[in-house]
Amino acid sequence: MSDVKILLTEKEMPEKWYNIMADMPNLPKPPLHPATKQPVGPEDLSAIFPMELIKQEVTQERWIEIPDEVREIYRLWRPSPLCRARRLEKALDTPAKIYYKYEGASPAGSHKLNTAVPQAYFNKQEGINRLTTETGAGQWGVALSQACNFFGMECKVYMVKVSYDQKPYRRSMMQIYGSTVVASPSDETEAGRKVLAADPESPGSLGIAISEAVEVAAQRDDTNYALGSVLNHVMLHQTVIGLEAKEQMAKAGDYPDIVIACCGGGSNFSGMAFPFVYDKLVQGAKVRLIAAEPSSCPTLTRGQFAYDFGDVAGLTPLLYMYTLGSEFMPPSIHSGGLRYHGDSPLVSQLLHDGIIEATSLDQTSIFKGAILFARCEGVVPAPESSHAIQCAINEALAAKEAGEARTILFNLSGHGLLDLPSYDKYMAGKMEDYPLPEEILSSALKNLPKI
Ligand SMILES: *Cc1c(COP(=O)(O)O)cnc(C)c1O
Repeated sequence: MSDVKILLTEKEMPEKWYNIMADMPNLPKPPLHPATKQPVGPEDLSAIFPMELIKQEVTQERWIEIPDEVREIYRLWRPSPLCRARRLEKALDTPAKIYYKYEGASPAGSHKLNTAVPQAYFNKQEGINRLTTETGAGQWGVALSQACNFFGMECKVYMVKVSYDQKPYRRSMMQIYGSTVVASPSDETEAGRKVLAADPESPGSLGIAISEAVEVAAQRDDTNYALGSVLNHVMLHQTVIGLEAKEQMAKAGDYPDIVIACCGGGSNFSGMAFPFVYDKLVQGAKVRLIAAEPSSCPTLTRGQFAYDFGDVAGLTPLLYMYTLGSEFMPPSIHSGGLRYHGDSPLVSQLLHDGIIEATSLDQTSIFKGAILFARCEGVVPAPESSHAIQCAINEALAAKEAGEARTILFNLSGHGLLDLPSYDKYMAGKMEDYPLPEEILSSALKNLPKI
């Protein structure tokens, strides 16, 4: 019997991040300036990002060195464990082997700290002492708050209002690390005031919170902005997950047929999948890569591949990506981290080119999978991560149906210990599904910017 838990030593932690832009058959179309609609240059971005991250955003160098100062903080929770879900396999009575990489052991409780730390670091290196950001469920806000705290920087977080009200404990965590947290839409910014004037009861959205955080960062010289997903440099930093997972699978003497991760803006999916995409593109590996998203916010499975803004006010560059339209208001589902209208341009391009796949799942089905997983493996997963779990369960059952011993690897992006009210609601039978009606989708897509 092989091990349940496959660990790496600190010395085996990757020294470089993997940049998929070195190997993609087609690079994404360039981001465009929101006003001129011309490709953005480094100068356009330097008002809110440090030069080093701007370089990482565009470079096609395959391997990017992880600075020692970043690796030192990574060591607080990295290398993260890879586990074999034997009890889940047994419960499903499947011939499939199921492995999962556990990112919930980071002090932030999710994978997001993998990019928060280098983002804070590269800003600090360039003399920036204050960052603004947005957060949905609060996981990104918590991660960036921790990272800023490690480097002695200030952090201001615009938190989507429905989560600010529903997830008060993540707000407390951000405050423990010294951040200032404001419910978005707020009356502190032009963008926030505009939304409130139209709808004083607005529950907020990531798109609105991004507008607020970017507006403030652009106004102050000492302040930059940090984004927790979507951008190329964020995907890059997360590749430590998949690079470690590959070493761990090799230690287990195995290689996945299927790699799965949930997908909001694409960062934990990229982190897990891109090192395997390398195997597929460069070495001809026959691995399937599946991004799992909510049926209520089905960006990859039902969105349009087009230029769109990253935010509601139209302050961000236009990104070429799968999108539901920047004005799309996702229903207030319990996977706050997956309520975003767009997706990473890198993930979008790979999907468009048929290199990866996407699937969507209903909210009640993912909670069912989450509870089965918790009872088998002990970990209470984040609702976001439970999309990957339910997708892995579906694939394990398909393997059983086909009578094939497939090897499945998924990323457990975070724990759900601050999501217990959502579990309560599910267990009380009060949770509903919100498959996106076609009319809402087509009306949201009507207002895509004309390029
Ligand atoms: C934020 C978050 C996600 C979704 O974001 P991606 O950028 O798509 O990774 C998934 N899982 C958890 C636990 C999160 O906090």
